[in-house]
Amino acid sequence: MAELIKKFVVLMGAPGAGKGTQAKLLEQQLKLPQVATGDLFRANLKNETELGQLAKTYMDRGDLVPDEVTVAMVKDRLQQDDCENGAILDGFPRSPAQAEALNELLVELNGAINVVPFVYVDEDVLISRLLKRAEIEGRADDNEETIRNRMNVYRESTAPLLDYYSEKGLVVKVDGDRPVDEVYNDLVSIITGK
Ligand code: AMP
Repeated sequence: MAELIKKFVVLMGAPGAGKGTQAKLLEQQLKLPQVATGDLFRANLKNETELGQLAKTYMDRGDLVPDEVTVAMVKDRLQQDDCENGAILDGFPRSPAQAEALNELLVELNGAINVVPFVYVDEDVLISRLLKRAEIEGRADDNEETIRNRMNVYRESTAPLLDYYSEKGLVVKVDGDRPVDEVYNDLVSIITGK
């Protein structure tokens, strides 16, 4: 019997759009794990690994960790057993080179991108959300200067991926400036087609 194609959902949206919150909710519903590169880097930082030390300088400034490093980490993660049916990608890819690398990886893994939901929120709402998160979670990169840089990096490096995936007919827009459960319900119907 032919092996089933693994299913990958690429959640797109600026920092603070709610990707992480939604991905965590979607995990159970879709029975696919959330693979969040920001969380993976933060875990490495906490465990004081070499990768964590390397990532820290970039994360503190709100810059992207170099593509080769990020892609190697994602490749390793997607080869783990819990990704046998696919994954919800949260915060990856974030640059055209990462999108290309993901395509190659999906060929190797016998996977395909199912859909690219784009959770959009106005930038002033995003910034106030991130500043609020800074107070609650105390994330080192949630300070105003770093937030502004992350927004610039998003606009310059990540937002162009929306055109790239739109050309492939994969992008579906979701208004992220609504209560969590409303955004979630829309995402479920977009992803499952129900
Ligand atoms: P996030 O939690 O997704 O906001 O990511 C926090 C930080 O981790 C980012 O500002 C980057 O420094 C780094 N990071 C996360 N994902 C990526 C990625 N796909 N490529 C490069 N750097 C990343």
